[in-house]
Amino acid sequence: MTGADAGGDAPRAGGPPGGLVVISGPGGVGKGTVVRELASRRDDVEVAVSATTREPRPGERDGVDYHFLDDATFTARIESGDFLEWAEFNGRRYGTLRSAVDGPREQGRTLVLEIEVQGARQIRQRESEAVLVLVVPPSEEELLARLRARGDDEETVARRLEIARWELARADEFDYQVVNDTVPGCVSALEAILDRAGATG
Ligand code: 5GP
Repeated sequence: MTGADAGGDAPRAGGPPGGLVVISGPGGVGKGTVVRELASRRDDVEVAVSATTREPRPGERDGVDYHFLDDATFTARIESGDFLEWAEFNGRRYGTLRSAVDGPREQGRTLVLEIEVQGARQIRQRESEAVLVLVVPPSEEELLARLRARGDDEETVARRLEIARWELARADEFDYQVVNDTVPGCVSALEAILDRAGATG
């Protein structure tokens, strides 16, 4: 195992050499943007492609943005034990495939999961070495402005704000909270967390 003889901190003794970092946060907080930017800055970081039963949005590609599965396939894959975690969000199912995580971690890469709070909780229970980060908005007013800027109707905005409040109320379940005030600032804060978690740039 890499560095096993180094004597110092061995945060993942017995586990795969690559780390696992969960990044959660309400819709509209900009976590997708910061996660993409983080992955482009760091060669040692990989973002897991999740599976979902929701429809692709314009421009989204199967196998790149998500693995888009129908309901029956998603259910079959739950029953086969293929998911490290899964959750229902806004009436659709989303899940992290073990296959997207295990191989890269064995090769020493740090896996980033961009998932919602219920999934983060499952990771906390199953993967004790995982580092959980909640990306939070500078204020609720700013979050509301970002949600409205997506062009959704007011009912959708109100529903998303309600989910956001629920998620933000669970902030103490996370190891770190990072405010997404500016994208570069937020990404730098995430990089510092990765470095503490053992990833090497
Ligand atoms: P969206 O439909 O906007 O792409 O994603 C909706 C929510 O599902 C976001 O909060 C996103 O982080 C979350 N999500 C995406 N993939 C997964 C996953 O694999 N597991 C869980 N639990 N949540 C996910």
